[in-house]
Amino acid sequence: SPLTMALETHTKTVVGQFDYSDEDVNKAVVEFLRQMSEGLEKDGASLSQIPTYVTAVPNGTEKGLYMAVDLGGTNFRVCSIQLNGDTTFRLTYTKVAIPRELMVAKTAEELFAFLAKQIEIFLRTHHGEHFEAHIRRRMTISSPDGFKDEHVFRLGFTFSFPVQQLGINKGTLIRWTKGFDIPDAVGKDVCALLQTEIDKLHLPVKVAALVNDTVGTLMARSYSSPGKSGAILGAIFGTGTNGAYVEKLSKLKKPLAGEYDNSTGEMVINTEWGSFDNQLNVLPNTPWDVQLDEATPNPGIQMYEKRVSGMYLGEILRLAVIDLLKRPDVAFFKDENSSSNDWKSTTNIAEHSPLYKQWGLDTSVLSVAAADSTPELSILRQELESNLHIYAASLEDAQAFKAIAAAIGRRAARLAAVAIAAIVLQTGKLTDPELGGEPIDIGVDGSLVEHYPYFRDMIYEALRVIKGIGAEGAKRIRIGIAKDGSGVGAALIALVAAGME
Ligand code: ADP
Repeated sequence: SPLTMALETHTKTVVGQFDYSDEDVNKAVVEFLRQMSEGLEKDGASLSQIPTYVTAVPNGTEKGLYMAVDLGGTNFRVCSIQLNGDTTFRLTYTKVAIPRELMVAKTAEELFAFLAKQIEIFLRTHHGEHFEAHIRRRMTISSPDGFKDEHVFRLGFTFSFPVQQLGINKGTLIRWTKGFDIPDAVGKDVCALLQTEIDKLHLPVKVAALVNDTVGTLMARSYSSPGKSGAILGAIFGTGTNGAYVEKLSKLKKPLAGEYDNSTGEMVINTEWGSFDNQLNVLPNTPWDVQLDEATPNPGIQMYEKRVSGMYLGEILRLAVIDLLKRPDVAFFKDENSSSNDWKSTTNIAEHSPLYKQWGLDTSVLSVAAADSTPELSILRQELESNLHIYAASLEDAQAFKAIAAAIGRRAARLAAVAIAAIVLQTGKLTDPELGGEPIDIGVDGSLVEHYPYFRDMIYEALRVIKGIGAEGAKRIRIGIAKDGSGVGAALIALVAAGME
């Protein structure tokens, strides 16, 4: 029917708007390198390029029992990590969803008290003996903090929001991202906020290191896969996106607030690349990107993240789908018997469908769509019915939905390649004679890169067309999942920090 043909035409137009050509990718890499340099030179640049005070990456021989907690998005994770010293580790782990109301609590104390409580529950559950011994010891000594230091867990605190780091276990929150908004916490030292609440509960825990999850990912990849130069980049593609890489101290031009060991001549830099190109010099900007941005609590910032990460891709898809649904001249999830003037009631979609709610679509729907290669798209159509309450979707409906979702996923992967390529080029490792032809290791973590089908393949496809990398360079770049990066990585940084006490 003409309405179905119109669906095909309009879908193509929508898909076309998410194209990000080889030329676009190359231009963006040049701009990324420019913004990186700017961030190394001064504060207030688009890329914050935050010094982390971590000056070495592990080599797989590190040992000991450490704790790590991770506040970064949807969940709070608490774990203990036994590093075996042979590139392996044993991780004990729990996670709990952050209650929505705490993400926008009135005071920082409310959120951090909740976190400390989770640490207590974890210790009682998994390290009960250690915990009881500590309580007994506390009852027999007069000074409340007089317990022996070796019984205190060193904890790496993975806090994946932009912080101004002032030392290895000190840093003030610059701004919240990813749906958090507690103005009271901005400008405060997040390690002190956590330590205060831990101390109120008398837990044998010392916050030894403030860790960005990207740095944790970098450290974890280096520990588990020690190559000739260690990993050069840790990158997250989850709720948000960000990367940390190993930079030469000589290129870090802005003054550092805290002390550090400069014997390696290097320091890990947290790029905060989520805010790459907030000016939109090179980032794509479809009408749906604009709509999404306007509906966020932080319009005009984290513009790269808003095109790349799990928190946003589902919403971009939802907005594009809604626009198509609103067109009376297009058959898209339409109820053919309806002749209503209200566009919603002409569809086969239940009124309470998440499709009609802001943030209603999870990015995992994009993964389902991309993974379904059955001729009838029966898996996707089932998913549309059971989770989105879209009934009797035709094959054409499902194909259109899948095509738009794929375009959004593909654009995200190509944008991810921009950041990865720029950092590989910045480090000069591809042309470093000392490395010969050795692989260049990159650790990645996050549901998007882990579960979105062919995400890494699409990154590689883009890397191959980038000037200065090419097919040969792309072959040497080894992108590996650093599982539990924020756990073991944070433990590794706590270990480094404990060595500096
Ligand atoms: P976090 O970044 O919060 O630590 P994750 O790495 O698990 O945690 O990322 C969660 C994000 O990943 C959410 O935004 C969610 O929409 C998205 N996500 C969850 N499952 C999938 C999936 N199967 N495919 C793609 N994205 C997913």
